[in-house]
Amino acid sequence: MNATMNAKNHFDITVLAGDGIGTEVTPVCLDILQAACDKIGGFSIAFHAFDSGAAHYKKTGVSLPAEALAHAFKSDATLLACMGMPSIRYPDGREIAPQLELREKMDLFAGVRPVKTMPGIPLPLEDARGKKLDFVMVRESTEGLFASRGNYRIEGEGDKEAAYDTQKISRKGCERVFEFAFRLARQRKTQGHKGLVTCVDKANVLGSFYYMRQIFDEVSKKHTDLEANHIYVDAAALQLVRQPWIFDVMVTENMFGDILSDLCAGLMGGMGMAPSADIGEHNAVFQPCHGSAPDIMGQGKANPTAMFLSGAMMLEWIGFKHNHPAVLAAADLLNRAIVQAYASGTILPVELGGNDGTAAITAKVMASLVSL
Ligand code: ATP
Repeated sequence: MNATMNAKNHFDITVLAGDGIGTEVTPVCLDILQAACDKIGGFSIAFHAFDSGAAHYKKTGVSLPAEALAHAFKSDATLLACMGMPSIRYPDGREIAPQLELREKMDLFAGVRPVKTMPGIPLPLEDARGKKLDFVMVRESTEGLFASRGNYRIEGEGDKEAAYDTQKISRKGCERVFEFAFRLARQRKTQGHKGLVTCVDKANVLGSFYYMRQIFDEVSKKHTDLEANHIYVDAAALQLVRQPWIFDVMVTENMFGDILSDLCAGLMGGMGMAPSADIGEHNAVFQPCHGSAPDIMGQGKANPTAMFLSGAMMLEWIGFKHNHPAVLAAADLLNRAIVQAYASGTILPVELGGNDGTAAITAKVMASLVSL
């Protein structure tokens, strides 16, 4: 289908740069996205930026303004960098994390964390074993242990005093994220991947995970064209370091996914290399896996690659949703530009021991994009 034949040729993006290095990697990402879209042509994209996050909370008492949330609901997608500052907290001590509120309010149940290694940079496992990594972690993002966020309770007194957070694992929450994981595995199978979904749990110790595993088994029986297996989360941590290439699509609870996806970012070289998407029935938010990195903010050292890759995931999601070949072509162009820039061997990000910060990496990716 030709792009001009599409009913929808304009896409509005809500942009939340947030805190710390978010304000550094966002503007360059918008430049790169605009350049990729302009180069393909046939559609237009507009970015609508809103202040939000910990610094905004400190200034105004609000971390996620109502107009930003309303815009995120009606726009075609949201691009979010990172939010939170250890020094700025809610009165109960929690860090400001409006990105979690956004996930809850928009019901973005599937946290998608692709683990794909980039050529041309030193990687902890690839170098040693000569293997390429290409798998996806899907993190349930609306319940699990995070469900009790802000509602922990303290019971008892004296020696008996203890704090409790309650884990929520619901049938609906499990079914929809497992179905998502199987759909993703089926789509990946057409691209030559294994077609395997692995449920990561702790069913040997906690009843809620045993319940989750039973629902996984029920759902897997509906997808006989695909393989399914389970692994305990501790064994998953071991295998992610020993032989991560055994995985294709992993699906897990919110807290386990939070922890394991940072491990996965490490497999890709660092936090600045790891993109992500939080996807619901109607809306989606695209965001690098990293936080606001206060230790390097304001120094030009932030690696914008994870933000660029998240932007490419956003274009891909919009392209598939609207069956829009030109938007899909822009996503593909951006991905190829990033890979080509790294494959040349001339980029070594500061976080990987090199000298390339935000400006240098952006310039090299932009040059690569222009050359394609
Ligand atoms: P959060 O809890 O908000 O997710 P975090 O505790 O996981 O945050 P990050 O802010 O992601 O922490 O930072 C972890 C480490 O990775 C820090 O040393 C930080 O400097 C580094 N880091 C994170 N993102 C980047 C990036 N884009 N470029 C370079 N280094 C980064």
